[in-house]
Amino acid sequence: MLLREVEYARPGSVAEAIQLLAGHEGARALAGGQTLVNVMKARAASPDVLVDLSRVEELRTISVSGDTLVLGAMATYTQIMGSSEVEVSRPILGEVVAQIADVQVRNRGTIGGNVCSSDPTNHLPPLLVALDASFTIRGTGGERTVAASDFFLGVYLTAVAEGELLLSVSVPASGNAADGFAAVTIGRDGTCIVSAAACLDDDATRVAIGCVDAVPVLVQPERSDPESIRGAVTAAALDPPADVHASADYRRHLAEVCAVRAVQQASERGR
Ligand SMILES: Cc1cc2nc3c(=O)[nH]c(=O)nc-3n(C[C@H](O)[C@H](O)[C@H](O)COP(=O)(O)OP(=O)(O)OC[C@H]3O[C@@H](n4cnc5c(N)ncnc54)[C@H](O)[C@@H]3O)c2cc1C
Repeated sequence: MLLREVEYARPGSVAEAIQLLAGHEGARALAGGQTLVNVMKARAASPDVLVDLSRVEELRTISVSGDTLVLGAMATYTQIMGSSEVEVSRPILGEVVAQIADVQVRNRGTIGGNVCSSDPTNHLPPLLVALDASFTIRGTGGERTVAASDFFLGVYLTAVAEGELLLSVSVPASGNAADGFAAVTIGRDGTCIVSAAACLDDDATRVAIGCVDAVPVLVQPERSDPESIRGAVTAAALDPPADVHASADYRRHLAEVCAVRAVQQASERGR
């Protein structure tokens, strides 16, 4: 389906982008366009102004600041896969983005677009919740930082308000932590039916499960053995959706399977 007519702006700086987003009702940031253009074609979203972020170079940087890896919102999956900062600080990020779709999507899709879509089937929301990431958001009223557990508010709904821009995603460097990720997908590189990301460190096990609710569900088993993990997932009383790919019961079962696999992968790496 053809797109309806829309105004288009291509700012060169964050300040200009925020001015455009805040100054026009119905303005929407355009990152890689891998989700937004498709939902516009389906008429599920009809922004009046597209604010294309592709020339805002300051949003593309990946850097390390102390013990924190900082990924600009416009960093693409391909860029993250090839980043030595990611490889050294938190390699699971590179491993997981390498599992997203195909090379075309990975060349265009960005970490900012992935999380701002807040699509429950996307790979990054559960991973970033498990890693205890934080999100830096700026609008005309100033800048704020939001924890991953408060960032995802619902399907296609996040803490980024109208007129605001997500600037970056900050992830603590691994330190003594070990991470894992497991998903059951539709086909080899397809959409997740259920996913789970795990982070094990000295004093806690964090497991975030995707596709079982509108936002990732965080469970914190007391120990990292399979029985404790399954117990923690059961205790979360998941109420997942049913669709042509999986019934609610099957998703509940897959949630336990993926959680155990993700923790096992992390445990093996942590040894
Ligand atoms: C064939 C196909 C298969 C896919 N499979 C998967 C998959 O298996 N797993 C997966 O995780 N994803 C998958 N995706 C989605 C893909 O990862 C998208 O790249 C991602 O969801 C959106 O990123 P984008 O950069 O393209 O953002 P866009 O589509 O440009 O934007 C998405 C939304 O985020 C907003 N936004 C973007 N950047 C910002 C910002 N900095 N500040 C505020 N708002 C912003 C936009 O306004 C828009 O609402 C797939 C996509 C396609 C086309």
